[in-house]
Parts: sequence; C-alpha cells; structure tokens
Amino acid sequence: MDKKSLKHFEKLLKTRRLELQAAYLEKLSRSGDAGADGALDSADEASANYNKEFWYSMSDTDRQIMRLIDEALRRIADNTFGACAHCGKPIQKKRLEAVPWARHCVDCEDLQERGRLEE
Ligand SMILES: [Zn+2]
Repeated sequence: MDKKSLKHFEKLLKTRRLELQAAYLEKLSRSGDAGADGALDSADEASANYNKEFWYSMSDTDRQIMRLIDEALRRIADNTFGACAHCGKPIQKKRLEAVPWARHCVDCEDLQERGRLEE
C-alpha cells in the first residue's frame, strides 16, 4: 500500500481510537461509576499504554475494537497493513474505509464467520 493511503488509514484509526476513549470517558463521568468490572483475558492487554482502570472497565466490544485498532496501527508501522492475515491478498480499500482495523479480506472474513478459518 502506498504511503499516502497508509497515512490516511492511520489517521482514521487514531481518530476512531480517540472517539472510543472520549465516548467512554464521557459515559463514565456521567454515570459517576468508575468501578472496574473485573477479569482480564490476558496479561498482554495490560501492557497497552492506556491506564489500567480505564481498560478494565471498558465494555468487551469496545475493548475488542481498541485491540484491533492497536494491532492495525502496529501493522501500519510494520508496513504489513492492508494485507489479509489469512491469504495475504490485499484487503479491499472500500472495506478498509468502513472497517480500517479489518484483518481479513471479504472472502476470508466470510469463511471465518462460518467457522471455517483456522488461525
Ligand atoms: Zn483473505
């Protein structure tokens, strides 16, 4: 993928990440409940650079997206962004515009949804 596109997706990902954080923090301040909901899946998650309490008390979905965003940002740094994690083919740009943290091309995503992708 060319540098200009990489920059573009990097910006999309970073914006999305900030939005997630902002939306979450707003929710937190409104409810006045900063309580953590408990268990972590793996120690890896704790190594991320946001503060622990924030991370623990996010919803699973937000946490999942955050993780995918961080992975995608890492792939941009590694210059592997935009290639399907399964078949290695380029992921369609249209798809990346909608879901910049996508790891699979449409074909492989389809297989995965049907539980036929081994990874
Ligand atoms: Zn694929």
